[in-house]
Amino acid sequence: MELKEYRAQISDLESLPYMLKGLHNHFTPQVQGYFVMGLKIGFIGLGIMGKPMSKNLIRAGHELVVYDVIDAPIRELEKAGALAAHSSKEVAEKSDLVISMLPDSPDVEKAALGPAGIFEGIKKGSTYVDMSTISPVTSRKLAEVAKTRGIGVLDAPVSGGEKGAIEGTLTIMVGGAREVFDGCLPVLQAMGKNVVYCGGVGSGQVVKACNQILVAGVLEAASEALVLGTKAGVDPETVLKVISGGYAMRVLDARGPLILKGDFRPGFKTRLHYKDLGIALAAGSEYGVPLPVTGLIHEMMGAMKVWGRGEYDHSGIITVLQELAKVETKK
Ligand code: NAD
Repeated sequence: MELKEYRAQISDLESLPYMLKGLHNHFTPQVQGYFVMGLKIGFIGLGIMGKPMSKNLIRAGHELVVYDVIDAPIRELEKAGALAAHSSKEVAEKSDLVISMLPDSPDVEKAALGPAGIFEGIKKGSTYVDMSTISPVTSRKLAEVAKTRGIGVLDAPVSGGEKGAIEGTLTIMVGGAREVFDGCLPVLQAMGKNVVYCGGVGSGQVVKACNQILVAGVLEAASEALVLGTKAGVDPETVLKVISGGYAMRVLDARGPLILKGDFRPGFKTRLHYKDLGIALAAGSEYGVPLPVTGLIHEMMGAMKVWGRGEYDHSGIITVLQELAKVETKK
């Protein structure tokens, strides 16, 4: 084949996504999922996360229109091939799909519902995906407004940090209508490796909040362990090596499925874990190390003993919380 001929074929292939894009609006969101290559995507919020995420969308072959209240990242994205906009409204006017990645709930409300915001410019039948970590209450409020305007909405917060955003390996937790999710999946997969449908509007934010409880809890507990270990005379590197390679890091794999079954037959009895936390607290008292979260868990396990649950597996601590919240997690 002549080189000229070969090039012509390549350029035909390159224009295919744009031809399909023209057809895109005539299909249901599920079918639209197959046609999203080459979509015009608006991206608002080009910070630590948003900048690399938007670059990955460009790499995946999408046209990008970008906006941030700060000029520098807009210029950087322009150099990477994006079109600069002057407001969230302009982004929405020029896009088939709008994504935001902003700090907090008030920022998203302002960018979406405020003057020169997304909802002033967004076209009926298009989709708005908010990937910021915000309150599920705000996500549900935005979805209510969107519904009256014929706009599909997803809440799609992420985990995986800046590294995951750069490498396109984020975990993305998505809430919203299933067919809107299906339509957006290829776009989300350009930014994340693990894209999980969590349920109706707001569910992505709920799961993200659950995830953050765990991350914060593990970091705090590990910090208490490291501080106690160090002040009681052990090399913190040794403590870290032992705790990070130990059962603590696997406990959810081991006990999680049993918790969902409501099976608290003991592997390790609550009364024995209560005793161990008592030992840690006494050592903390001896060496001058306040252990606030350890103290709280010790008291909760103490309550389990009072309620006759000392023989339950230590994962039965969830029964205390279930009763406080009047809810059952058993499937
Ligand atoms: P960031 O502060 O680096 O970026 C936010 C960007 O939004 C900034 O560039 C800011 O100028 C811009 N912005 C603020 N208000 C705006 C508005 N009204 N219109 C347009 N642009 C506006 O924050 P980040 O680290 O990129 O985080 C974004 C979201 O992702 C947050 O909700 C955060 O909790 C979440 N998140 C962050 C990480 C992380 O490791 N950084 C990880 C997971 C999730």
